[in-house]
Amino acid sequence: MDQNFIESSWTKQDQSFEIPLRPAHLDEFIGQDPIIKRLKIFIGAAKKRNEALGHMIFSGPPGLGKTTLANIIAKTMGTNLTVTSGPVIEKAGDLAGLLTNLKDGDVLFIDEIHRLPICIEEYLYPAMEDFTLDLLIDSGPNARNVEIKLNKFTLIGATTRVGLISSPMRSRFAFNARLDYYSNEDLQKVILRSSKILKTPISNDAALSLSERSRGTPRIANNLLRWIRDYSQMHNIINIDEQTVNLALEMLSIDHLGLDEMDKKILNVIIDHYNGGPVGVATLGVAVSEEASTIAEVYEPYLIMKGFLKRTPRGREVTQLAYEHLGKKHPQKKDGVEI
Ligand code: ADP
Repeated sequence: MDQNFIESSWTKQDQSFEIPLRPAHLDEFIGQDPIIKRLKIFIGAAKKRNEALGHMIFSGPPGLGKTTLANIIAKTMGTNLTVTSGPVIEKAGDLAGLLTNLKDGDVLFIDEIHRLPICIEEYLYPAMEDFTLDLLIDSGPNARNVEIKLNKFTLIGATTRVGLISSPMRSRFAFNARLDYYSNEDLQKVILRSSKILKTPISNDAALSLSERSRGTPRIANNLLRWIRDYSQMHNIINIDEQTVNLALEMLSIDHLGLDEMDKKILNVIIDHYNGGPVGVATLGVAVSEEASTIAEVYEPYLIMKGFLKRTPRGREVTQLAYEHLGKKHPQKKDGVEI
């Protein structure tokens, strides 16, 4: 049950909970300062020239604010936002339907843009550059090309795997930004802001303690806050303090660095079954019963950032720090002495 909760905290299933917590303006967006500064110039200049914004791509692990930024950008430009996702666009006709419905200046947000089929990407290039769509209609001797003129739209792509985006695609974005994990101080601000919206009083110390265990990710911070709110409600706690945070998160098996059961399972499997690695991510996925892509996009980046795991050309390896964190002996050490 606990694991399901954690997994769902990385998905966007509970939109009704997320929507009120989403910052609506650039000034409400916490953290990611260099990107926000660049965005203000990029948007300000387009507005001054009265032009549609150039195409943009945001990359980074899930839950860091890519969709939120797309919403804010459309709102700031005073235009409509259409949201879709790479795997949903299967045929050229699907793309044509989306693009022909966009008005001048509208924003099309394609989440998971790295999962767009390659044939669709090729239709997208002229649409992004010249705002035209060349469609092949009919087949056999009746086949003919039809050129459709589109309104000047802005494409915002989001991806957790920027490396999987082809270079012709990447070069067509005027604004390219990689969102980083949030600092504990920024996440603390996210938590305090959300606690006000949710009318759930939490002390500064408790918010900081929660931020340290939220994997640098606002979505996880908000989901854990929601769990702590439920926990305190059931225990008749009105003001959430550090102890409440600790007790509530203990029930989810989340440790003081934010590692959950799956993180520990991944590290333990590499140590116990593969001698600390290297092991390929596909094998690892089978060993821990998780999709290899979820390991690569969700778990691994945080474990790497924390210094528990490293990617080598031969596969994933745990570091000395992982042995220490899990209270296990490093194989090259005997009784704490290097041999
Ligand atoms: P992504 O698209 O990168 O997966 P989202 O934009 O859906 O992430 O963000 C997930 C949730 O985290 C949002 O609903 C919002 O409440 C919160 N969030 C993200 N970034 C911020 C931020 N910078 N400040 C405050 N809340 C944020």
